[in-house]
Amino acid sequence: IVRIAPADTTAAEGDRLFILSFRDISQARRIDRMRSDFVANASHELRTPLASLRGFIETLQGPARGDAKAHEKFLMIMHEQATRMSRLVDDLLSLSRLELKSHIAPDETIDLAPLLGHVRDSLAPLARDLGVEITLDLPEHKATVRGDRDELTEVFENLIENACKYGQEGKKVDVKLSGGEGENSVEVSVRDYGPGIPAEHVPRITERFYRVNVEASRTKKGTGLGLAIVKHILTRHRARMIVQSEVGKGTVFTVRF
Ligand code: ADP
Repeated sequence: IVRIAPADTTAAEGDRLFILSFRDISQARRIDRMRSDFVANASHELRTPLASLRGFIETLQGPARGDAKAHEKFLMIMHEQATRMSRLVDDLLSLSRLELKSHIAPDETIDLAPLLGHVRDSLAPLARDLGVEITLDLPEHKATVRGDRDELTEVFENLIENACKYGQEGKKVDVKLSGGEGENSVEVSVRDYGPGIPAEHVPRITERFYRVNVEASRTKKGTGLGLAIVKHILTRHRARMIVQSEVGKGTVFTVRF
């Protein structure tokens, strides 16, 4: 409420001259709350490995000072924790870079077949370690989209890596590219034959730090940010992601451009 009485109005008149102005601040409040939740989550995720690192350093300085075996073991764990923090910081930086770029439309012409081949090759060592075979089904013709090469590489790396990690027991991940040339859309699907995602979790898996199973995500070297990054990139590309999952049978992530 703003009082608009000019300086020379009498007190009695001035009391009646007001403008009432309404502004919906619920959206701004919601964004503020999301931002502070995000900072709290990110801090918590960093604090855990940091606390563990400090604990090991203190043990190495004190009780385990002359113990060569403990040294070796603790240094290995400390290395893992530091790697985990680096992964988290890398993902946080990716997200913030994407937020900065959100108004710029990505507009290179990207041929998806070689891009997917490249992603499969880069994930081959991980797949081999997990005992998973990645198959790639490509159309005869070219399937191109307008986009950003690095960002789309990140999308498919995330989806295929998740399929290998979480669908490991299915031993196979099928990647299929379809559509394009004369068709209205281009689609990439990533199918695994793992445990699937219970229906109540599916709508939330692209939220930052949301995991179906926190322990499984940790042991599988997850940061909880992968699908949030994927969602951000796909929104910028005006592409949709469809998740179909059946518990006990597996999951299909389909990206439709
Ligand atoms: P994370 O870094 O934990 O892998 P993501 O954002 O990539 O985080 O994925 C969020 C969660 O979604 C994962 O922790 C996992 O619980 C679940 N998830 C993702 N992909 C799959 C999949 N293919 N099968 C089963 N669960 C999955």
